[in-house]
Amino acid sequence: MKENKYARRNFLQKYVKMVFLLAGSGTILSLKSNASVNEWKKTSASKKQPTKKLVPQDELKNPCDDLSKVSAEEISKRKKLAYVSQSPVEDNQCSNCNLFIPAPDKPCGACLLFKGPVSPEGHCAYWAPINN
Ligand code: SF4
Repeated sequence: MKENKYARRNFLQKYVKMVFLLAGSGTILSLKSNASVNEWKKTSASKKQPTKKLVPQDELKNPCDDLSKVSAEEISKRKKLAYVSQSPVEDNQCSNCNLFIPAPDKPCGACLLFKGPVSPEGHCAYWAPINN
């Protein structure tokens, strides 16, 4: 009976030691992984590209490319018709298309096929010569 009691005590002592050992190694591993994450953050921050100088969009874009007031459905129509604001065909432009609606004193006109601004220099797959 005595041997059994001591055997149980030995087992419990070993078990407690194992628990402390595992808990300690887990803490060390987590500290080490935190250190490597912090190191990675420092190196990635130092490798960041310098920010580009921002240029106002008005200076970059053709005003006829501003689709901020155009619905997604109408933008989809433009894409289906392969509309581009600069025609790849020299003599076929929106300005000489039968479906173009010019807007006097404004840089952009419109088109009978979809809503939104249309560049006079634009083009799409439905270009049709003006009938005189
Ligand atoms: S049909 Fe095409 S080419 Fe003609 S005005 Fe409209 S977008 Fe321009």
